[in-house]
Amino acid sequence: MRKIAAGNWKMNGTKASLEEIRALIGAHPAPGCEMLICPPATLIAAAAEAANGSALTIGGQDCHAAASGAHTGDISAAMLADAGASYVILGHSERRADHGETDAQIAARALAARAAGLTAVICLGETEAERDAGRTLDVIGAQLAGSLPEGADAANTVVAYEPVWAIGTGRTPGLEQIAEVHDFLRARLIERFGAGAREMRLLYGGSVKASNAGEIFAVANVDGALVGGASLKAADFGAIVAAL
Ligand code: PEP
Repeated sequence: MRKIAAGNWKMNGTKASLEEIRALIGAHPAPGCEMLICPPATLIAAAAEAANGSALTIGGQDCHAAASGAHTGDISAAMLADAGASYVILGHSERRADHGETDAQIAARALAARAAGLTAVICLGETEAERDAGRTLDVIGAQLAGSLPEGADAANTVVAYEPVWAIGTGRTPGLEQIAEVHDFLRARLIERFGAGAREMRLLYGGSVKASNAGEIFAVANVDGALVGGASLKAADFGAIVAAL
């Protein structure tokens, strides 16, 4: 399977940031993994144009479940595809927290993404209180069951395990904790979707940087990373790409 280094720029970046896209492409013309950047919606078209013909793919950070209509401020999956995106992040913990997104809404968006030809990167993760209470696998299992729609497969879906307490904090789980969750995810996916789910990419996300990427990528069932802060600069993200 082709692993993925995915960058989530969140609400960061203006036209000047396209320079980072150009630098990334220039430094990694033939990376050993799939290289994905999800800039804010305002930059998707320009980023896709800059990435045209290169090894870099572009994604959105969310989409609406409807194809079009009276949804002020929202963006449909078809619009993302039209702008040049081929992926869309769904159910990021910041969206679950800031916008109250539910597993059912995320599953509906994933179906919309699939209909538009996008691959959904569906995020799951426990809070620190849930981990401390020993509920990590219960929480992850419920999110997995609720957020992935029927028919999810290795081509239309990527799963990102992102412990909420590790995002943007500089803290990461131990390697054995990452392994436990990724093994659990793999088993649940195979149980529900069949043997083809062995090929579904499982990303780890949460304070990944050049200095810890190598050891995290060596963990079984870790097929890449979803990276926030360290994806904003081409040099930082490039070092993670090189570690995969
Ligand atoms: C993220 O937002 O998906 C993320 C993992 O952020 P960071 O790498 O900054 O922890």
